[in-house]
Amino acid sequence: MLKVENVSASYGELIVLHDVSLEVKEGEFISLVGANGAGKTSLMKVISGLLKLRAGKITLDGIDLSALAPHEVVKLGIIQVPEGRQLFSRMRVEENILLGGEIYHTPSELNASFERVYRLFPILEERKKQIAGTLSGGEQQMLAIARGLMANPRILLLDEPSIGLAPLLLADVFKVLQRLNREGVTILLAEQNVRYSLMVSSRGYVLERGHIILSGESKQLLNNEMINEAFIGR
Ligand code: ATP
Repeated sequence: MLKVENVSASYGELIVLHDVSLEVKEGEFISLVGANGAGKTSLMKVISGLLKLRAGKITLDGIDLSALAPHEVVKLGIIQVPEGRQLFSRMRVEENILLGGEIYHTPSELNASFERVYRLFPILEERKKQIAGTLSGGEQQMLAIARGLMANPRILLLDEPSIGLAPLLLADVFKVLQRLNREGVTILLAEQNVRYSLMVSSRGYVLERGHIILSGESKQLLNNEMINEAFIGR
């Protein structure tokens, strides 16, 4: 479905991705793990068209994304939930969700999507009139994911949804992601929380200073000595 082949990218002269390749198949839940500054966000940006490639190729079902503008990538169903959520904090919960639903042409399509999102996140329905900035961190993260889902993604790119969350909320967010995936949403999850993200995903890639240094089944990566030493056993 999504193929990243030998991609390099830079900010000016600073190269942050070196010859990166990865693949996400329909229905998969893939983790992209690595430390601060490894290049996870940059890779997400390259896929979404927010950062231009220096070299390599990115395709969705064979369609070349490299030359597309970010809004054209969105139209193909690649939806990014950005790090830091980027909600409209002074607007109500339901207004934030609505902003993700620009693609709908009829009220009934829009309503069906609202219903789906509220079924997945009952807390957001309870709080739909509340100002988004007053939600808890975990609820705000749910809201950011809900807004992304309104765009009916073929593939959801999640950038560090665990950031700033207390351990209990963190478990909730990962559970929701697992459920979304079981319902058929394809997920690429960038995370610093290596243990959790490998526990919920099926395969993973490890990024270090812009290079993919390891990839495989998440279960195997969880048992990998190097990963345990570098990320988990600390
Ligand atoms: P984090 O977990 O801290 O978000 P990350 O793995 O997502 O890290 P990136 O944000 O992709 O990493 O950053 C990769 C490298 O690119 C870092 O060295 C960072 O300093 C640099 N970088 C990121 N954004 C920019 C920018 N807009 N201009 C210049 N350099 C940048």
